[in-house]
Amino acid sequence: MLHLIQLKEGLNKDFDQINITNGTPFINLKNFNIMIFYGSRSKHLKTERVTGPTCQHCKNQAPINITIFGKYAHLYWIPFFPIGKTGVSECTHCKKTLSPKEMDNSLKRKYDEIDSFIKTPFWFWSGIILILFLFLPTIIMTIFR
Ligand SMILES: [Zn+2]
Repeated sequence: MLHLIQLKEGLNKDFDQINITNGTPFINLKNFNIMIFYGSRSKHLKTERVTGPTCQHCKNQAPINITIFGKYAHLYWIPFFPIGKTGVSECTHCKKTLSPKEMDNSLKRKYDEIDSFIKTPFWFWSGIILILFLFLPTIIMTIFR
């Protein structure tokens, strides 16, 4: 109740006109529960087929698929900001998959090459951009008042 009064006082000078002594206030802030969904997700960015490196597992010089994923933090499934890239290689002969840490030097070099020219998508920042636009009027008014 105290929170509601403080909130109303801050927003509205005609506070006295609102009847708060009888009945329930509009919002019971004490019992106002919000469930927050957040976490991180991965989005497929690119798969490139490379030839040259020998598979560490089956020892064949078969083409290897290198796949790069972009990771982002989300709030209510809205991407907020990127949290780096990850990837995997897959031998087209034996289907063995390797994380970047497991790759040998020649495969890791190919992986880093592909990784370096893949940019993080702009929409990974959607949440931050959305918040900036929501608060932009307030920011401008604070600076230029
Ligand atoms: Zn293989």
